[in-house]
Amino acid sequence: MVFRASDTHCVFCQDALDAHSKFLRRDWCKRGDCARKGVARDETNRRERLERQAAELYPDAESPVVGVVPVNRKPLGPLPTRRREMFLSHLDSVIAESFAECEHPNEACGEIASDSKAPPAALVSTACGTCQGYCCQLGQEKAFLEASSIDRYRQRHPEADASSVREAYVARLPDLSVVESCIFHGEQGCTLDREMRADLCNTFHCSGLMNLHAQVQHEETRDAAVFACDGDELVRHTLVIP
Ligand code: SF4
Ligand code: SF4
Ligand SMILES: [Zn+2]
Repeated sequence: MVFRASDTHCVFCQDALDAHSKFLRRDWCKRGDCARKGVARDETNRRERLERQAAELYPDAESPVVGVVPVNRKPLGPLPTRRREMFLSHLDSVIAESFAECEHPNEACGEIASDSKAPPAALVSTACGTCQGYCCQLGQEKAFLEASSIDRYRQRHPEADASSVREAYVARLPDLSVVESCIFHGEQGCTLDREMRADLCNTFHCSGLMNLHAQVQHEETRDAAVFACDGDELVRHTLVIP
C-alpha cells in the first residue's frame, strides 16, 4: 500500500485529519479556512472535469458550459386503480372548493403564473427533456392541483360546469405514466396544458437549471451542454446552442 501524507493530514495546514474527515474521504480538516479552500478546489476540479467531458462529447461545440440536472430513470407503466382513485378524490375536492368559493372566477384567476427570473423556454425544454421530469415525481396523485388551478381553467372556459371540468382533467391522464411519479407524467413529459397545471408546475425550475441559466447569461456566446446525472453517472446529455 502506498502511503500518502494527504491520507492522514490536511493538505492545507498539515494537521492530522480526524475520523469524520477521513470517513468523508476529504483531504482537508474542519478548520474554516481549510474547509473553504477544499470546497472551492473540489468545485473547480468538478467543473473542469465536466467541461473536459463536454468537449469530448461535443468536439464541434465552442467550449461549452455545462449544467448538471438530475435525472428521472423510472420506467413507464399503467396507472394503478388505487392511485387513479386517489387522484379522482383529490380532483373532486378541488373542483368542489373552486365552485363553492366563486360562481364566476374573475380575469385575474385566468393568468398563468410565471417567474420573471425564469430561464428562456428553449433552455427549459432542453434541460427538462434531458432530465425527463425528475421533479415531477413529487406531484404524485395530486399533481399539486389546488382550487386556484381549477379557477384558472374555469375563467378560460366559462361554460364549463363541475362535471366538464372533471372530464377535461381525466381526459389528460396518459395511458402510461412514469411509475410512482405524478399521474400526469407521461412518456413525452407533462400531459396537462400549461393553463391546467398548478402554479408551482408553471414556475418551478431546479437549482441545476437555474445555475445553467446563470452560466449561459454570464458566458453569452458559449454553447451549453446539459448533463442529466445520477450521482457521478452521466445518464443523458444534450447540447444547447444559444
Ligand atoms: S426543473 Fe430540473 S428537475 Fe425538474 S424537470 Fe427540469 S431539469 Fe428536471
Ligand atoms: S402536473 Fe405536469 S408539470 Fe406538474 S408535477 Fe405533474 S407532470 Fe409535472
Ligand atoms: Zn487544515
